[in-house]
Amino acid sequence: LFAGIQDAPLDPIMRLFEAFNADTRPGKLNLAIGVYTDADGKVPRLRAVQEAEKRWIDKALPKTYRPIEGTKPFRDAVQELLFGEGAKILTENRAATLQSVGGTGALKIGADVLAKLKPGATVAVSDPTWENHRALFTQAGFTVTDYPYFNAETGGADYPAMRAALETLPAGSIVVLHACCHNPTGADLTAEEWADLVPLMQQRGLVPFLDIAYQGFGIDLDADAEPVRLFAQSGQEFFVASSFSKSFSLYGERVGALTIVAADPAMRAKVEALAKRLVRWSYSNPITHGAAIVEIVLTDKALRADWEKELGQMRERIQEMRVRMADSLHQRHPDRGFEAIKVQKGMFSYTGLTPDEAVRLRDQHEVYALETGRVCVAAINTHNIDRVVDAIDAAVKG
Ligand code: PMP
Repeated sequence: LFAGIQDAPLDPIMRLFEAFNADTRPGKLNLAIGVYTDADGKVPRLRAVQEAEKRWIDKALPKTYRPIEGTKPFRDAVQELLFGEGAKILTENRAATLQSVGGTGALKIGADVLAKLKPGATVAVSDPTWENHRALFTQAGFTVTDYPYFNAETGGADYPAMRAALETLPAGSIVVLHACCHNPTGADLTAEEWADLVPLMQQRGLVPFLDIAYQGFGIDLDADAEPVRLFAQSGQEFFVASSFSKSFSLYGERVGALTIVAADPAMRAKVEALAKRLVRWSYSNPITHGAAIVEIVLTDKALRADWEKELGQMRERIQEMRVRMADSLHQRHPDRGFEAIKVQKGMFSYTGLTPDEAVRLRDQHEVYALETGRVCVAAINTHNIDRVVDAIDAAVKG
């Protein structure tokens, strides 16, 4: 039965995760995985989340099935977070939101919906991108290609190259875009570049699929969602995958949402019904706990304010580490472009480390980074930053 299974390696992140767990050196430090840890190196339990959990448990509600698309207050809260309070689209009834199994589940169901609508279409992802984008769309039956994205010279996005590549894609191609905090590079498009990209996508008949896994970690909750809002204002049809894993520090609870924006309410109803059928056929109903907690936090004024405050503190803590890391590394290696770490956004940075340097960093200095040079800045804190900087310094010197 199983003899024909071809050996397939895990993706690099999961491979390193397993190698890290098996590493017996006491000083090992994991900058390879995408998890935010606080100033003491712990995955935080957010205050608002803890309070919401208490309230939820005190209610002792029956553990019945949740609607396929999730509850209405949850879906409304997700849309408000994406589109902004009072946004026109919130009352136009042309956006369908379904609770999903994390951001990954939103991408998966969105890919399944698109596979029904546009079989054989090309999917273009950024080069580089989060490993799973390519796999998820390939699994759904698409041919996945990429568009140039990163400028290694500047440490920023290479929008002219990206734009030129998108202009050559056949109409009807699906383009996966990171709304903010690009993973793995940390390089985001500027507001002007988004303002140019949104009408370009529309003119070229490309289907935007926005992935927003780090809303709140870039500039703030509103600014990070600005690309989503520009697409909404443009009137075009598009997909959005939201993840609450990072912003609520609820990784294992698997909370996310898929939002599909249609041209009008009738189209919205059609695509929503299709998405619900696809959920029914894959895992039937979404998971209660995490979404219930997110719903309580987002719909309670005081809890929401406290969540926003704590999320802001997480963002500022990462920013502080970015500045310290960039400044000290730049001082020691002014020709390596380490200053870009300061400008990059979100939990990750492309440091410009070569694969050999990343291997030395791991083997000789017990610091795990991806071989692409991606580090998780959100795992750096005041206790380990000097060690990280010294280790990178040593790995670069060889
Ligand atoms: N998209 C991107 C760009 C991500 O980095 C991640 C998480 N690493 C996800 C989606 C998936 O998030 P989740 O853990 O909620 O499935």
